[in-house]
Amino acid sequence: MKEIGDSTESENTINIISLEEAPDDSSTPNNSSTPFNSTASISSTKSTKSNNPLSSMNIMKYLYEKDYENKVCVECKSPMPTFASINNGILVCAQCGEKLEKLGYNISFIRELKEEWDQYLLSFLERGGNSRFIRFSKQYDLEEMPIEEKFQTKIVEYYRLLVSIK
Ligand SMILES: [Zn+2]
Repeated sequence: MKEIGDSTESENTINIISLEEAPDDSSTPNNSSTPFNSTASISSTKSTKSNNPLSSMNIMKYLYEKDYENKVCVECKSPMPTFASINNGILVCAQCGEKLEKLGYNISFIRELKEEWDQYLLSFLERGGNSRFIRFSKQYDLEEMPIEEKFQTKIVEYYRLLVSIK
């Protein structure tokens, strides 16, 4: 006997990994059930509270020294970039940052180096960095592509995933 109108489908469990899980929410560190705590995360070891803003001077100095390519905008190569695209793990100048910001925060979550930072935000730049992005761009032949177009490609979306996990 068939039940006709009754559509009791078995549970579809679809697992979607959300790439852009609100990186600005500093109050809820989800350190309990994250599958991402395997490799190169130097972040969460010392301070489990992600709510400790680091001073602006430190951030800029730290990032410039960490990766020599960080000293120039990853896009236009102008010196001393003052903005970061967090989820792409790159440093950019104000002009390029503005272009990226217009694409929406899930494409590019922009933060000024002078603003408040915490360990969570910083961890994206530690895993990423301009050098890594430049290598990736060369590998996938993205260098000549206009900035707006480039960051909306699937391949850069994939890169954001990489930067978010390892
Ligand atoms: Zn630039």
